[in-house]
Amino acid sequence: MPRQRTLKIVEIFPSVQGEGLRQGEPMIFVRLGGCNLRCSFCDTKYAWLGGRDLERSEILDEIQRVRRRFPAEWVCLTGGEPLMQNVRPLVLALKKAFLKIQVETNGTIFKPLPVDWLTVSPKPKDYACDPRFRRPADEVKLIVTRGLALSTVQKLRAEFPSETTLFLQAESNAPWSVAKALRLQRRALFHGLSNIRVSAQLHKIFRLP
Ligand code: SF4
Repeated sequence: MPRQRTLKIVEIFPSVQGEGLRQGEPMIFVRLGGCNLRCSFCDTKYAWLGGRDLERSEILDEIQRVRRRFPAEWVCLTGGEPLMQNVRPLVLALKKAFLKIQVETNGTIFKPLPVDWLTVSPKPKDYACDPRFRRPADEVKLIVTRGLALSTVQKLRAEFPSETTLFLQAESNAPWSVAKALRLQRRALFHGLSNIRVSAQLHKIFRLP
């Protein structure tokens, strides 16, 4: 029998979704190792190089082990950048297990996947995003860094369908970033941009993993 392909997994843990429209949803997070970007504000730098090689069956076993004490319906594939790896077989196996799947991606590597929720979070400095993400994205998340300009918000607002919510998420809930997010939102209103929300990271407020 050919050897099952493995995925580099940094951690699998239960928590609640701290960001975006699914904020507060109980979820099991599967953090995949590796990222093609190197954002200075990244709060998961430990995922850039880390990770154990796990076979799909080992990942599923671990998820089911976690679910015995935290029977969440949702599994979130995050990173790092989860789409750097071939996650399709894992996604299909999770679907077969009747779990709902969220993927959080920086939007640079497109893969069509039958997931239930797709979060696209373009990153500086060019906020590049594969155009094939525009339709399937369920939400867009922008980290409000010191360098984020209104022109970037305008550009991304124009690229994604107007019904797709665009979040201005304060960088690590820092007060200066919250203030900037509110300023940007107000300026966006004056420029006629709609469906733009400010947001914070709930898991950091609640001190969850
Ligand atoms: S894309 Fe995400 S995981 Fe990758 S470096 Fe940037 S913030 Fe970190």
